[in-house]
Amino acid sequence: LLASMDEHQREQAEHEQEVSGRLQALMERVNSMEQDAKAFHSHLEDQRQKALTDPLPGLPNRAALSERLEQEVARRHRAGGDAEGFDYMDRNLLLAVLDIDHFKRINDDFGHLAGDKVLKIIAGELRKRSRQADFIARCGGEEFVVLLPATSLEAGRQLLERLRAAIAACPFHFKGEPLSITCSAGITAFEGNEAGEAVFERADQALYRAKRAGRDRLEVA
Ligand code: GH3
Ligand code: MG
Ligand code: MG
Repeated sequence: LLASMDEHQREQAEHEQEVSGRLQALMERVNSMEQDAKAFHSHLEDQRQKALTDPLPGLPNRAALSERLEQEVARRHRAGGDAEGFDYMDRNLLLAVLDIDHFKRINDDFGHLAGDKVLKIIAGELRKRSRQADFIARCGGEEFVVLLPATSLEAGRQLLERLRAAIAACPFHFKGEPLSITCSAGITAFEGNEAGEAVFERADQALYRAKRAGRDRLEVA
């Protein structure tokens, strides 16, 4: 009987050791999978940021703008007044389109690299002079879109006017010659439950008016 009990205990101990070994291996695998998942997630986030950023001026691109516009429009809709008509959040949202004047000439006269440098400097000015909550994207060649949440049209107009003046005051030098580069812009406010496209169109028309009126100016729509 004693021998049989010994045998049983030995088998039991062996079995326990085997289970504990397997458990250890399993935990190591889970750990390593967790590490892999973490690395993969961080890689994915890097890729996502890259896909949303324009490498030339280091600003968000058109895809990033679409994403942000959707969020801001949703925020506006949620922020609507309640049944008693109480407005509990600022529903103001402005959209401005800004386009560099006669940019083709810069490329034609001084080369594409000089043009790229100008784009970088202007993007830097825009970023530096905008507020934390503002969103600036490069939306194609030499065109930028600015989203201004919780801002009245008059305050937005003043802000864009400051941006325009700052760009015009940038001391550019080409082949030793000083040159000022200007831009034109159109700004408009979201109204009612408007979607982004309609507002974009209105800002674009205001920009077009600014161009026709002689450039280096801002038009409000
Ligand atoms: P306007 O005042 O009417 O806006 O005239 P514009 O010359 O700025 O406008 P147009 O649309 O005729 O030309 C835009 C030019 O911008 C054409 C293109 O060569 C240049 N451009 C667009 N993207 C880039 C870029 O990434 N780098 C450089 N260097 N130039 C670019
Ligand atoms: Mg232009
Ligand atoms: Mg353009």
